Amino acid sequence: MDLYEYQGRQLFEEEGIPVPKGIYAMTPQEARKAADSIGYPCVIKGQAKIGHRGQAGAVKIAHDADEAEKLAAQILPMSVRGHKVNGVLLCEAAHIIHEYYVSISVDRTSRDYDVLATAAGGTEVEDIARQHPEYVKRLHIDPYKGFTLDDAKVMAEQIGFYHADNDQAAQILLKMWKVFSDSDATLVEINPLAKVGDPDDESSKSLCALDSKVSLDGNAAFRHDGWKRFADTAPADPLEERAQQHGLHYVRLKGQVGVIGNGAGLVMSSLDAVAGAAQDQGTDIKPANFLDIGGGASAEVMAECLSIVLDDPNVKDVFVNVYGGITSCQLVAEGILEALDKLNTTAPIIIRFDGNAAKEGLETLKAANRPNIIVESTMEQAAAAAARIAASMEGNGNTQEENR
Ligand code: GDP
Ligand code: MN
Repeated sequence: MDLYEYQGRQLFEEEGIPVPKGIYAMTPQEARKAADSIGYPCVIKGQAKIGHRGQAGAVKIAHDADEAEKLAAQILPMSVRGHKVNGVLLCEAAHIIHEYYVSISVDRTSRDYDVLATAAGGTEVEDIARQHPEYVKRLHIDPYKGFTLDDAKVMAEQIGFYHADNDQAAQILLKMWKVFSDSDATLVEINPLAKVGDPDDESSKSLCALDSKVSLDGNAAFRHDGWKRFADTAPADPLEERAQQHGLHYVRLKGQVGVIGNGAGLVMSSLDAVAGAAQDQGTDIKPANFLDIGGGASAEVMAECLSIVLDDPNVKDVFVNVYGGITSCQLVAEGILEALDKLNTTAPIIIRFDGNAAKEGLETLKAANRPNIIVESTMEQAAAAAARIAASMEGNGNTQEENR
């Protein structure tokens, strides 16, 4: 579960990590009031669960109330790479002397926690890490030994907070670790962790977290009262919401080929297969969604899946890719037929079965003799057919309404 910057900041404040004064606002008028109470210059930051908001124009500086209101009105309706801005955070503008990057995350390979840090933080941190990997320090926290202030001091020394106070850096590292472990986080990132203050006055300089990126481990929600205070108020995609109510893992994408499969890995490869086939065919057809039906796909589940996928008006056809393990392809076939009766759709359904009762399932489909069911024998062939059919329907200007 990812948090917005303003929510992650709350955890920082509670642990005593220095953050600039900040107020969250949801309308331009609220933003104006908040900016007035913070004072000028004031930073206005669009709250979206994605990085690089600065480069996308969702982080701006206002010098008076009118400008604050105007900038908030610009930023609030924005989306940053598909992620809707849910509000704005008004912050006291800091004078930045230097930007560091520090994160703590779970390292599944070494089975411990990684501290990644560089003195070359800021918005270009990924480019710098690619061009100069030696600038990025990767240190480890042993989950059994834990992490003390002395450990944090050694670590701060190793990272090299050249222009900053090592003791303060160590305090912040230790507090980040406390946020990370006490909140059952999988990521706590500060970029920039900035050295701020008056460049001519050494005593005014200190470290401050000017951004927060925190991901919590959803499996631990029960230990934190469900993290109700971090509930997302942004309206969810209606199809995603419907899928969630049925316990289905559905993610809406932007393409034209609906994809239904069993098992997250198989569905992911199906998405790649569709996109790859379209590329080979020289079209810009893309998968329209991710939908994992999980194990035991009953007729009702299949009907609900097809109904959700086909309710996306961009969808031209559907690729059903099932590898029968516990799931019997015969049952899936019956489910598809019942679902098609219920939904009364004529959208092409391209099907590939393998594994448990695949042969029986395919025979059932063949015997049903439905004009819109197309059976292919391999995943690649099915993906290619789905991409080709979607492209031809798009070329004809067919909408799904006409295919129903
Ligand atoms: P991100 O682009 O989504 O990571 O958003 P950030 O919160 O990191 O903001 C982007 C950039 O805006 C930062 O890297 C800073 O360089 C700049 N910025 C953020 N807050 C301030 C501030 O208080 N003062 C100044 N001068 N720049 C800031
Ligand atoms: Mn940032």
